[in-house]
Amino acid sequence: MDVLGTALSIEVISRYSGSMGILTEVQGFLVTDAFYTYGNKQMREELVPKLARGELIGSFALSEPCCGSDAAAIETRAERRGGEWVINGKKMWITQGLYADVYIVFTRTGPKEARHRAITAFLVRRNKCIEASPINVMGIRGTGTSELTFNDCVVSDDDVVGKVNEGFKIAMEALNLGRIAVAR
Ligand SMILES: Cc1cc2nc3c(=O)[nH]c(=O)nc-3n(C[C@H](O)[C@H](O)[C@H](O)COP(=O)(O)OP(=O)(O)OC[C@H]3O[C@@H](n4cnc5c(N)ncnc54)[C@H](O)[C@@H]3O)c2cc1C
Repeated sequence: MDVLGTALSIEVISRYSGSMGILTEVQGFLVTDAFYTYGNKQMREELVPKLARGELIGSFALSEPCCGSDAAAIETRAERRGGEWVINGKKMWITQGLYADVYIVFTRTGPKEARHRAITAFLVRRNKCIEASPINVMGIRGTGTSELTFNDCVVSDDDVVGKVNEGFKIAMEALNLGRIAVAR
């Protein structure tokens, strides 16, 4: 569906359930569309059809206890060790975080002072290195909103979404679409 079709669908779904409306937005725009637009061949061919059919649940992990509006200040780090990347840090308010099979995780891959110029997005599959704790929210209680802790999560170059240090653009483009979807 295009943006208008998706926004109208979310509007109708949200009349019956705000949670289902948000889930449609996150799964469709923030996760599936981001993998489709910026992901590599394997992400597009393996993940995108399953996410679109709802066979995989996806989560978009950007916000942190330190930084919500100021997303360029995130502190979750991905460090190069040997030929791999190791992710450590905490994410906050993550929709579907409790149930997700795959996460698009935004990490710092350079000095904090570099802000948006040193953020990289990774595909992280559900794994024992991720602790997900529920957050007892006041409303929209059906979305598995959670705090996520990443403890030495190992990923590879093939899990980079887009390019190293160019993840901030992916987050902003995804949120631009997501905002249209939930604006009404
Ligand atoms: C239902 C729900 C689902 C969410 N799902 C996700 C998700 O799936 N993934 C994800 O990554 N995040 C998610 N979030 C988090 C959301 O992106 C953040 O809540 C949002 O970015 C705001 O950050 P914050 O809560 O830390 O508030 P803050 O950034 O602390 O802002 C608090 C208040 O201060 C104001 N403010 C902030 N900075 C300034 C400034 N410089 N000048 C003036 N005013 C300012 C803000 O406008 C706001 O009113 C979700 C949030 C909600 C409520």
